[in-house]
Amino acid sequence: MHSIDYDIVIIGCGPAGAITAREAAQNGLKVLLVDKRQELGAPIQCSGALSANALEDCGVDASTEFVQEAVYGFSVYNEIGAETNLDYRELKPEKYGTGLGQKPLGYVVDRRRFDRYLVTLAERAGAEVWLKTEGLGYKPLDDGTCEVYLRKFNKEISIRTRVLVGADGLQSQVGKWAGLQTHIKMTELASCLQFVVDKVDTNGLLEIITGHEWAPGGYAWVFPKGHGYAEIGLGVIRTMTKENAQWHLDHFIKNSFLKERLQHARILEIQGGGVPLAAPLRTQYATNLILVGDAARHVNPITGGGLHTALTGGMIAGNFLAGLIHADQPATAENLKGYQENWLDKLGNKMWQLYHTKKEIFETKDIEQRNRMLYDTMADYFNPLSSYKKV
Ligand SMILES: Cc1cc2nc3c(=O)[nH]c(=O)nc-3n(C[C@H](O)[C@H](O)[C@H](O)COP(=O)(O)OP(=O)(O)OC[C@H]3O[C@@H](n4cnc5c(N)ncnc54)[C@H](O)[C@@H]3O)c2cc1C
Repeated sequence: MHSIDYDIVIIGCGPAGAITAREAAQNGLKVLLVDKRQELGAPIQCSGALSANALEDCGVDASTEFVQEAVYGFSVYNEIGAETNLDYRELKPEKYGTGLGQKPLGYVVDRRRFDRYLVTLAERAGAEVWLKTEGLGYKPLDDGTCEVYLRKFNKEISIRTRVLVGADGLQSQVGKWAGLQTHIKMTELASCLQFVVDKVDTNGLLEIITGHEWAPGGYAWVFPKGHGYAEIGLGVIRTMTKENAQWHLDHFIKNSFLKERLQHARILEIQGGGVPLAAPLRTQYATNLILVGDAARHVNPITGGGLHTALTGGMIAGNFLAGLIHADQPATAENLKGYQENWLDKLGNKMWQLYHTKKEIFETKDIEQRNRMLYDTMADYFNPLSSYKKV
């Protein structure tokens, strides 16, 4: 075997890539983490809602470096404004709140600062990080290693490694290089738009507004953003509407039952992006290669949340690869299948369940019935006594 440059190379410095890198480096691997961006987390394409459990699960403190506002629960509305209020300060006052021994249920984080913070943790654990470095391709070699082709600033280089990790987000190319089936159907891709605004009051709750009228195929939201700011956004499935997300957001702000509260909103930022409301990829590994985070469709298909799953997926990936490489096992597809099995065991089987629930809701033809199903599912999902296991 030729000498290798790094045990693993990770493409993508989002939450999935950064936590994979931190775990692998902490466990003694030589890690290279690259991103084509020159500023981590920018431009922001995320509302940043994240449970406290998600941070705890991956051993990250809720630092003031990235927390913008603490969150204490949810308000779920149907299309005409009937509300299920799930304020954990009232439901579980002994645990949630601002008093001694109490804590928030979650946070809204600033993705620019959050991504930078996580990458710093990876660096401090020993990973090497290159920005403005784009992944171009990879080739498995006869000796069991592979070559990864990168463009660092303007220079093309190749790196020899044992495993390439694709943490390159929704529009992942890494899986395609290995011939994995990564195509996402238009019927399962939510087109999201949000405004960061001033002059909209919030109360420490994530507000979720359901109903085909406002967000066909998805839902609308009003989240607190810290410093008196808020986020107003929505995601729609373009095959379920003639209009685009911008039209729907405008319609929601001007005409929904929240219109009086939203009428003075002053827009400070406009952010958008796609969210896969799809099933996890059936195959998330190939020779010398695994996928993690959005690249593997590790996204909750009901809520569209992908941060918790990216962080947990990164933990699973980093630990699995450390075990494999320390055991001197070759990175064959057969051996890397173990990563997917670990992931299915810890997370994936629940995500498949949620995917089936989501499909049942959105394949219901009758709009009133579909509206009812989505509202009931959302209200149940965020309830402390939920029949759904949280993902
Ligand atoms: C509008 C919107 C709101 C959202 N709100 C929430 C929310 O409130 N809560 C939540 O949990 N989730 C939310 N999500 C989803 C969440 O943002 C994603 O699930 C999450 O970012 C996935 O993390 P990741 O690390 O897998 O990928 P990403 O964060 O997308 O990171 C991928 C990285 O890979 C890099 N990259 C891509 N290709 C290459 C290449 N060829 N070479 C080098 N680098 C490359 C990119 O530059 C990027 O930095 C939202 C999404 C959108 C669009």
